[in-house]
Amino acid sequence: MVRHVYVQEGALPPDPASVLYQYLTGRNGTFLQAARPGLEVCLPVARASLPVRGLAELRPYFRFARIPAAFLTGMLHEARRQAPYETLFYLRRAAGRWRCELPEQVQTRTSVVPVDPEDPAYRDALAEVHSHPPGAPARFSHDDDRSEQLFRVYVVLGRIGEARPEIAVRLGVYGQFFRLPLRWIFRPR
Ligand SMILES: [Zn+2]
Repeated sequence: MVRHVYVQEGALPPDPASVLYQYLTGRNGTFLQAARPGLEVCLPVARASLPVRGLAELRPYFRFARIPAAFLTGMLHEARRQAPYETLFYLRRAAGRWRCELPEQVQTRTSVVPVDPEDPAYRDALAEVHSHPPGAPARFSHDDDRSEQLFRVYVVLGRIGEARPEIAVRLGVYGQFFRLPLRWIFRPR
């Protein structure tokens, strides 16, 4: 279920965890808000060009325990090993620690899908990473747009065979995408 709420001055919006996601409209615009354990977001979808009087000022946020950048190095290494096929990784968080998993997957040179999309490891993943074949940029493809339909962070590894690989990150909220800075997702040492 999706909820739409006007947030009056002095009022609090309802708990986003009780719906799939909700749109909040406040003085400064409309925001998409969603929450699951380990990922809580409130991001602008439309800024008000003039203040909407009588509504509350809303503050955007992105709450996510960042993934140590060392995981990126490990995934790039593994993706190179599996080239020219694409590789899929899941990142899950348990007891305050990140874990990277390589699920059973069907790999081709232009696609990668999990063998079992109902696997709890897939459903619980907070971040999903896939590599593109060597030479291909880290650009989310139309196929990626179609298949990345959950609420989680999505990452693409591109130009994996080159000295400076590319990394693209975005947040997916059930098919709506927000490009994010890399530093919101990965934490340098
Ligand atoms: Zn892709």
